[in-house]
Amino acid sequence: AVKISGLYKWFGEFQVLADVDLEVARGERIVICGPSGSGKSTLIRCINALEPFQRGSIVVDGVSVTDDLKRIDEVRREVGMVFQQFNLFPHLTVLQNCTLAPIHVRKMPRKEAEEIAMRYLARVRIPEQAGKYPAQLSGGQQQRVAIARALCMSPKIMMFDEPTSALDPEMVKEVLDTMVELAQTGMTMLCVTHEMGFARQVADRVVFMDAGQIVEVNTPEAFFTSPQHERTKLFLGQIL
Ligand code: ATP
Ligand code: MG
Repeated sequence: AVKISGLYKWFGEFQVLADVDLEVARGERIVICGPSGSGKSTLIRCINALEPFQRGSIVVDGVSVTDDLKRIDEVRREVGMVFQQFNLFPHLTVLQNCTLAPIHVRKMPRKEAEEIAMRYLARVRIPEQAGKYPAQLSGGQQQRVAIARALCMSPKIMMFDEPTSALDPEMVKEVLDTMVELAQTGMTMLCVTHEMGFARQVADRVVFMDAGQIVEVNTPEAFFTSPQHERTKLFLGQIL
């Protein structure tokens, strides 16, 4: 579903990604972890062209991520993205947040968009919040709206960038449960997270990044019980 080859990126003089290769197969769940500043967010932002890159290639479902705006739109339509800071539109209700892109980007009739939105709001267990505004919801509820909103575009792949790290501890579980249920539907998922319980439960592979490079890729089992690299051991020692 996604193929990243020889990816390099610089912010000015600063090299943020160096020779990153990563393939995500359809239906695969990948967890990316690594120290702060290692380039995790930048990597997934490159995949849906929120960041430009200087060398290498990214292909999403057969479409190359280039500077061609038309192609970028094609890619973004297939990729759902959930951020640490929910990024909901504050002036729109939950339902309107969920129907905006399907109506305006996919040109879906309003009624159909609303039906689909209600289905996904039920899936993330907050259909009763449809008429509220984001500020009237808890953080965990807002993040579940963000997940439902992304799903309303029928993405082929869902990307998460530390979706639980801005949440109060008691709300982390409800969002992780939603993500586990999503994984059980067979969705292709690329998740930046330090929730190692989640990684063990759903990841097919764990990718460890440090200083802009992929240092280690392994099954969760091998990653946690027998990390291969010193940097991985050091990192696990700090977070486990
Ligand atoms: P965290 O775990 O803290 O979210 P991360 O692994 O997601 O970290 P990135 O946000 O990808 O890391 O940042 C990687 C590096 O690139 C950091 O050193 C950061 O300071 C730098 N960086 C990120 N965005 C920019 C930018 N717009 N301009 C310049 N440098 C940037
Ligand atoms: Mg980040």
